Amino acid sequence: MGILRRVIDGEALHERTVRLYQSHVNPYLARLMNFAGFGVETCGEGCYITDHDGRRFLDCLGGYGVFSLGHRHPRVVDAVRRQLDQMPLSGKAFFNAAQADLAERLAQVSPDGLEYAFFCNSGAEACEAALKFAKGATGRAKIVSTEGSYHGKTLGALATTGREKYRKPFEPLLPGVSFVPFGDAVAAEAAIDETTACMIVEPIQGEGGIHVPPDGYLASLRRSCDRTGALLIVDEVQTGLGRTGTMFGCDHEGVRPDLMPLAKCLGGGVMPIGALLGTEAVWRAVFSQNPIAHSSTFGGNALACAAGLAALDVIEDEDLCRRSRILGERFRDGLRRTLAPHPDLVSEIRGRGLMIGVEFTMDEVGELTIAQLMKRGLCAAYTLNNPRVIRIEPPLIISEEQVDWACATFGEAVAETAAMLAELGDL
Ligand SMILES: *Cc1c(COP(=O)(O)O)cnc(C)c1O
Repeated sequence: MGILRRVIDGEALHERTVRLYQSHVNPYLARLMNFAGFGVETCGEGCYITDHDGRRFLDCLGGYGVFSLGHRHPRVVDAVRRQLDQMPLSGKAFFNAAQADLAERLAQVSPDGLEYAFFCNSGAEACEAALKFAKGATGRAKIVSTEGSYHGKTLGALATTGREKYRKPFEPLLPGVSFVPFGDAVAAEAAIDETTACMIVEPIQGEGGIHVPPDGYLASLRRSCDRTGALLIVDEVQTGLGRTGTMFGCDHEGVRPDLMPLAKCLGGGVMPIGALLGTEAVWRAVFSQNPIAHSSTFGGNALACAAGLAALDVIEDEDLCRRSRILGERFRDGLRRTLAPHPDLVSEIRGRGLMIGVEFTMDEVGELTIAQLMKRGLCAAYTLNNPRVIRIEPPLIISEEQVDWACATFGEAVAETAAMLAELGDL
């Protein structure tokens, strides 16, 4: 009776949600998601997501990097609850202690020289602020970005996002943006000159398909910027706070950016929050003549900052950077073993820490494999700019057993995909 009731309620919830998406949210997205067989998410806990049907999924997508601490980490939930009972949003006329505390903590954990934080609510907003500050601080207009990059979909961030499909329908965007191949330091050196305000780059391209640049790439960009007086923006929205096995992606090369956008897991998987970290020189240039040259009503709200402080505590106390490094190796080794029988379908397994990409030889294989993974209770997705690459970004709290299960499940999913393709080939 209890189970039957839940199944009926679950189906009703699914039907109603899809119908309301169709009539009031986005009918085209509803069709796409329904076609892919997505359910309604009803609960998240630790490394698992539960859908309307009561099905449980090991979360290897991790909300594109939001759920580094898993779902509803108890320490983050507690901190937010306490803040909720005291002061969720600030009155704006007063100093806000939670914002001050989080800014101090971020200055402590980030590369030297990033002393200041501007708080906002998303990754795109943090990138918008970075581009705006770079223009203001240098008085220059030119921006260099990379092909395949992802910096968000608001107009300014979109102008620097390296995929034409997203930009084209909304042009003209911000003028003066040029794109160079990711990982190519020589092309960047040639593009950055005395009229360049900034170069914006991800330490590892996420949506572009989990691309790790050659060693020395960021250091070379730093030199090109220093030579010309351009600012270096390292977009750590996805790579930040332990995802790649170090606190920040740029720590791998010991490079100090002028500006560093953060978001995704900064709210501990409980609250949305974005932040732009920057140097004293940039803050002086932007704010000394006008202290409110840039601002946000909800940016730095106490609820989100309380979540951010708790998230940083958890990342340190649970040694999540180290876990990311060790489990990332285990995950890649495991996948290399379980996917070894399919060199015709899987072309590469790559990444750093628990930011892993599995590249297939054809777009369709990725799609079919994702369906097989979901069927077996493993949640995964491909990268936004590259459907050939399945991204694996599980919570950094994932256990060894869960990693091993995921690798075995991946092996089964690709084997079944291979069998299906072989059958189609025989027809
Ligand atoms: C997701 C992402 C963004 C945009 O963040 P939103 O919160 O979706 O606006 C920007 N940069 C990178 C590297 C990202 O991965």
